[in-house]
Amino acid sequence: MFSSYGAAFLVILLCFGIAGGVVAKIKGDSVISWFLISFCVPFIGLATAIFYRVEKGELRRQCPDCGRVVKLYDAVCMRCGSELEFPDVAIAPESAAQRSPVKR
Ligand SMILES: [Zn+2]
Repeated sequence: MFSSYGAAFLVILLCFGIAGGVVAKIKGDSVISWFLISFCVPFIGLATAIFYRVEKGELRRQCPDCGRVVKLYDAVCMRCGSELEFPDVAIAPESAAQRSPVKR
């Protein structure tokens, strides 16, 4: 009984691992490392992979009151709590900003 459950659980873990690898492939990250992360910590790893991707690709804007950079879809500033109008100017997502080389 236990062994069949164990095998089923292993298959589920493998599915999470593959899903994590696919997400990594889309992002252009290391498939092997994300596969291992998703396999070892299936739920957390996959959620992190997806969340990471969404966060990096999201348009941002600056709070007019405190200057904090928040997500474009945020209706209320997370720092000062002021209500935010839909902005005229959006800040490029982090993924786009990272493509421009910054030399120091
Ligand atoms: Zn603010």
